[in-house]
Amino acid sequence: MPGTSFDAVVVGGGIVGANCAVQLARAGVDDIVMLERDAPASKASGRAAGSLTIYRHERFGAEASRVGRDLYEEYERAYDGLTFHREKSYSIAYSDEGAHYLSLKDESTTVETELLSAAELADREPEFATDDVTAALCIDEAVYTDPEQLTHAAHAVARDEGVSLKIEEVRDFEVEGKDISVKTTNGSYEAPVVIIAAGAWTKRLLQRAGTDVALRPRTSQIAILDPPNNIDLPMWGAPDWSVYGRPTPDGRVLFGGGTTTPVTDLEDFHNRARVPFLRQVGERAPEIIPLLEDATLHDDWAGRVSATPDRYPHIGETDIEGLYVCSGFNGEGISNSPFGARLLADLIGGDDPLVDPSEFDPTRYQGGEEFEINDAVEWWDDR
Ligand SMILES: Cc1cc2nc3c(=O)[nH]c(=O)nc-3n(C[C@H](O)[C@H](O)[C@H](O)COP(=O)(O)OP(=O)(O)OC[C@H]3O[C@@H](n4cnc5c(N)ncnc54)[C@H](O)[C@@H]3O)c2cc1C
Repeated sequence: MPGTSFDAVVVGGGIVGANCAVQLARAGVDDIVMLERDAPASKASGRAAGSLTIYRHERFGAEASRVGRDLYEEYERAYDGLTFHREKSYSIAYSDEGAHYLSLKDESTTVETELLSAAELADREPEFATDDVTAALCIDEAVYTDPEQLTHAAHAVARDEGVSLKIEEVRDFEVEGKDISVKTTNGSYEAPVVIIAAGAWTKRLLQRAGTDVALRPRTSQIAILDPPNNIDLPMWGAPDWSVYGRPTPDGRVLFGGGTTTPVTDLEDFHNRARVPFLRQVGERAPEIIPLLEDATLHDDWAGRVSATPDRYPHIGETDIEGLYVCSGFNGEGISNSPFGARLLADLIGGDDPLVDPSEFDPTRYQGGEEFEINDAVEWWDDR
């Protein structure tokens, strides 16, 4: 089959790849093809908790979070299957260090927040155990959504922008003059710009292209609990314990965490939660919400995401001209990929970048070095 020329090739049809395609098309890149080996949203992007942390904090700056909120609200308006659930959210600290962190966070964000004592939390949300609580940060309107529907919405918008999607596995790359040739199971695609946005598989693909970036695949896990009685809960996070939770639209409780387990075999990975995580759920859930003592396990699953040494994603050009990466969002790729994709589009289009790109430069590490995987919950990495 003859090669096919495009202006840009995006490898990966999860939320990151789809958002990259949308932002690139809007930056004026005409002919874009997205290559996905399975189904769109079949990997991490379909398994996330769907918490849009850009409504709760501004990890990469207010402007970065705003870009994400604007894009996703546009998707919500454009795509019938997508609903945003708006809830109160509490970040709850159980140590003095945690309380200090919450106060810094309260001061540093433009998001509407309110710092509460344990007694104030008990007064407002009596479902929480508060004996060991040192402080809580209340966000009036946090948002979660179904990440699978969100990813389908991103694909629909990309399609409307003229992006084509091919279900083909990328196997190899060749650099040919100014173009990179992307070899797939069905043929090859040539383009001067190739973006690898393949989640946990990104590092392996970059290595096939002859370069390396500091990424390490790891798990994130979820348990869905059936509470014994109807229970009206807000969203919450317990940064001291690296766990979080939220209500589900059908009256259950989603409990997330289990984020530091490295993935050694990307292909032979079972999508169920691991025993240590389920033990953590059994221990922590009733400590946070005593009513969950008698909850039963309704469902559980695990997904693969990519970690970076400093918990900043890699967004930019690799040491191969024209080969870009957008990956390493750790546990927040649903939330932060609109901003990541926009930054990448700015860099490719030569526009003023939205934020200082040097913090995200994929060549800031050598690439092959080993590193520990940090806890996923925002608190630890921001300290
Ligand atoms: C349990 C869990 C909970 C999470 N909760 C949240 C949350 O609440 N909020 C949040 O913001 N983030 C959350 N995340 C993180 C978020 O899901 C990820 O950061 C995000 O989905 C990454 O998107 P991606 O497109 O990079 O990866 P993926 O969705 O994994 O997509 C990568 C795609 O690349 C494709 N691919 C791989 N190799 C090839 C190849 N050779 N050729 C072609 N295609 C290929 C794969 O098939 C896959 O579809 C969670 C993750 C998990 C697992």
